Amino acid sequence: MCAQPPQLTPGQRSLATAKSIEARRARAAFKAQIKSGVATIFDAINSQSPHITAMRVKELLEAVPGVGEIKAEQLMERAKISPTRKIAGLGDHQILRLREELSLTKVEPRRGRLIVISGPGGVGKSTITRALRDDPRFVVSVSATTRDARPGELHGVDYFFYSEEKFSEMVASNQFLEWAEFAGALYGTPAQSVEKWLSVGKNVILEIEIAGARQIRRSESDALLIFISPPSWEELVARLENRGTDSPERRAARLELAQEEMASSIEFDRSIINHEVHQVIAEMVSLLDELDGRNH
Ligand code: 5GP
Repeated sequence: MCAQPPQLTPGQRSLATAKSIEARRARAAFKAQIKSGVATIFDAINSQSPHITAMRVKELLEAVPGVGEIKAEQLMERAKISPTRKIAGLGDHQILRLREELSLTKVEPRRGRLIVISGPGGVGKSTITRALRDDPRFVVSVSATTRDARPGELHGVDYFFYSEEKFSEMVASNQFLEWAEFAGALYGTPAQSVEKWLSVGKNVILEIEIAGARQIRRSESDALLIFISPPSWEELVARLENRGTDSPERRAARLELAQEEMASSIEFDRSIINHEVHQVIAEMVSLLDELDGRNH
């Protein structure tokens, strides 16, 4: 008589589903860490999580920056690991061989590109960067600022909200890639995290105002400077005027600043018109492909 699969109660079934979702999430998160260089395959070997140790060696190797499917297969062949081997099934000797092979293979990823997004106030830069945050091809740098957090903004997500004293200390100890004053507050790009992401091959987005963009132009010769333009001057004026609560003087000051900002577009490598967010992102990606001669 052949064995019947156990019948699960609805409660057991939903528990099983929840467990498999949790496992999938844990695996995806670990792969993302390997991709960004935060974790290595040896962290998987030492992991206490059965979700991680049940992963295939090949799947994790393919996620290592600079190793693709072909390199992963070659590495495994040289380390005498079968293509279906799971992390938990690796023997000591295979782990040693894997370590040797990985250090022999130059797996340094290609450096990412620094991309500055700038443009006049009201053009929709922050909507573009918000969409880029969900795009795995990019990392959006989180700036430091001395302005107060607006409702809903989070420290470490939207900005690092620092006191003027702390900001000045960071300026004095050269911790900013660039910094500038804007509308009575200080804003700066933390250099260390940008460097970390570039070194693991990520394209890093800085959404900054024009004075900061100029500093990057001078200090980072490989940076790509993109100016976001409105579909027309009239549309920009309408968007700025719709911002509501400003006094007539403040509105006039905003328009004057926008005019100056528009005039600086010629200093940028490329202008992209913000008709629609996804179109702007598609143009950015094809510009990068064009520059690097590759697909992302
Ligand atoms: P908000 O206060 O509205 O978030 O930003 C005001 C302006 O500061 C925007 O034009 C934004 O692009 C710019 N900004 C944000 N972060 C930085 C930064 O790190 N450096 C510079 N130079 N400008 C920034």
